[in-house]
Amino acid sequence: MCAASSAAFRLLRDVARKLSYQSGALSLYHKVRNRQVLTVAMFHRVLKRDDPRWETALYSWTLPDDVFDECLTFFRRHYALVKLDDVKASLEGTRPLPPRSLLITFDDGYADNSEYALPLLRKHRVPATVFISSDVIGRNERLWTEDLLWAFMEGRLHQRDLVSLYALLMGDTARDVEDSELIWEIVRRGPELENARVEAAFSALKVDLHRVEQPRQMLTRSEIRNLTANGISIGAHGKTHTALTFSSDITSELCSPRVVLEDVVASYHQRSVDTLSFPHGAYTSEIVDRSLAAGYALAFTSDAELCVLKNGFLASPLVGRVDVNGPGIAPTGKLRPEILALAFFTAPRGRAGRALRAGAHSTRENR
Ligand SMILES: [Zn+2]
Repeated sequence: MCAASSAAFRLLRDVARKLSYQSGALSLYHKVRNRQVLTVAMFHRVLKRDDPRWETALYSWTLPDDVFDECLTFFRRHYALVKLDDVKASLEGTRPLPPRSLLITFDDGYADNSEYALPLLRKHRVPATVFISSDVIGRNERLWTEDLLWAFMEGRLHQRDLVSLYALLMGDTARDVEDSELIWEIVRRGPELENARVEAAFSALKVDLHRVEQPRQMLTRSEIRNLTANGISIGAHGKTHTALTFSSDITSELCSPRVVLEDVVASYHQRSVDTLSFPHGAYTSEIVDRSLAAGYALAFTSDAELCVLKNGFLASPLVGRVDVNGPGIAPTGKLRPEILALAFFTAPRGRAGRALRAGAHSTRENR
């Protein structure tokens, strides 16, 4: 296709998308199709564009505060916003979810969830759930794997250094694979490595991670308590943020965050911490079984699918989520509601985990 005709095709597609949303056709489709469905939205970070942390934030997983504000307006218009407890009650069979339910979730435990997302959640009077990796609580810096991923995405990481870094960190020579596979393996496996090993690898290579002085990146214990005081539920997101499919100590990754987070929130506004989201969206049927055995009632994946209900009740403890991708829904910095509508209204519907149905573990590029 020549440049002129592909530009014309994009223009036509954009006009068709806009019309389908503005005419109400897409909303009508959603009303009928997703009546007996639970939708879960997955966010990571919300920042102001002039915040010093904006420059080094991973753009795919970061929303400007004004776009997040517009997302909440959109969700309120099209969904019944529910709490984590409502979803648990639906699974237990004690209380059905309303038609077109939506649960808002955040992963990782970034301080901006408290600083920027919470005031907007309060403004719109909508509940949310924050899944936190317990090792990052109170940390000034984010995980080194996030710094590395940022450097890679910004083109600051030389291919030669990436291969050497992999060998030093993993004690293994890099296989003949694409750079993107190498970086994702480091990001998924790296968080559980000992600090000394990581520091030795970086000082041997002099990789520039652009670590500048920035405000604190991760939530503190008191901020987490303040979230619960404002109606936000807390769940676990592993201990170190290592993908459970790579973890050398799954028991610790599952059990430790429950103990730590319950110590933070119990006796405040939440009785227990009994839900989790899988770091990097990675899981297998064995990991699901072990999560349930460890006392988790609900496990959230990163499979972009909606959860089918039966008369308002959830049939499986495994729930998919639709990622809200900042540049995807706001390519010019302003929300395109028709893109958000298409992503959410038409996502595939499923029961009990795409990866389990496929008989494989999830390998999507997720954080
Ligand atoms: Zn994560």
